[in-house]
Amino acid sequence: MTVGVKTHLRKGDEVVILSGKDKGKRGKVQRVIRTKGMVLVEGLNLVKKHAKPTKTNPQGGVIDKAMPLPAGKVMLVCPGCEQPIRIKREKAADGSLVRACRNCGRTLD
Ligand SMILES: [Zn+2]
Repeated sequence: MTVGVKTHLRKGDEVVILSGKDKGKRGKVQRVIRTKGMVLVEGLNLVKKHAKPTKTNPQGGVIDKAMPLPAGKVMLVCPGCEQPIRIKREKAADGSLVRACRNCGRTLD
């Protein structure tokens, strides 16, 4: 049985990268791989891949491909205060737990 790694990140969240060559850059989460605790961030953590010629890319050659990052290496950016933030869990009116910014209190769900 695979145990998912806890992360509060979701697809579409804006994040900032905390370490590595893309440190400080921001991007949107394209995919969350919960089983591995990784996130794929649009246009960041790119690696050069040598591609064989295909129908869609008849030239082949070198392409930039975004690689997943450990979720711990990114931090959520609050859409309200524009800061990299920690989140807290808050109970919404209907009793469900929502994510909220510790900084400005804005709910993110
Ligand atoms: Zn905020």
